[in-house]
Amino acid sequence: MITFTINDQRISVEQPMSVLEAARANGVEIPTLCYHPAVKPSGSCRLCTVEITGHSGKPTTLLSCILKVREGLVVKTESELVQKARLAAFKNLLQMAPQSKKIRQIAENCDIFLGPPPDGCIRCRLCIRVCKEIVGAEALKMEKRDGINFVVPIEGRCIGCGTCANICPTDTILLGDRDNMRTISIRDEIIGQHPLEVCEGCGKRFATPKFLAYIERRTEPHPHVKEEHRYCPTCAKLFSDRIRTFSRPAKR
Ligand code: SF4
Repeated sequence: MITFTINDQRISVEQPMSVLEAARANGVEIPTLCYHPAVKPSGSCRLCTVEITGHSGKPTTLLSCILKVREGLVVKTESELVQKARLAAFKNLLQMAPQSKKIRQIAENCDIFLGPPPDGCIRCRLCIRVCKEIVGAEALKMEKRDGINFVVPIEGRCIGCGTCANICPTDTILLGDRDNMRTISIRDEIIGQHPLEVCEGCGKRFATPKFLAYIERRTEPHPHVKEEHRYCPTCAKLFSDRIRTFSRPAKR
């Protein structure tokens, strides 16, 4: 019989085993990702770190999947030193698997906050600036959520022009034209959803009513431009090229 202590609880095991196995057999939870009882432990995820008191009397951390129980061993699984080592292990794992929900879930269970998952946005605010300064819709803003800044929509402002999606340097803002509808979104949030109008030249669905109304207003002082505002960019170019060709003065 080997008797040792985990978190002030005296535990006795009949045969040699790892601290992790002994802890789990006695209801003490230690997080792991790389451990599997069918294969030899490797200690690669480093999440199963525990604190023991070394020969010098100084507390030190070791991996419980590899560490064997021995008589009189004193183990702590929730000390400050353990939390520090675990945080470092979680951060290291996140670098390799940033999208992993499981890593975040395990960290949460250990009361370790790893921040929000990366959303692809580099917070350059190009989308916000272009929507305000060029489009004039002011449909996007920065908002703090849990202490972190996110680009978020301002409800009802988007006109569906798609400028933000086109200018986004990391393709985080998405534009999707499907079933005659245009959807602009960031992460899982919808910035705007609009029906699409038909091009009078080729019949293709190309722009939203709000965007067309906006163009109509903006081009009021230029009636020749206004005439072409129901054409998609390809048809508008084609027709304006023709107008130019036909109106070119004949060479003498
Ligand atoms: S699609 Fe909407 S949010 Fe994006 S630039 Fe145009 S108006 Fe602004």
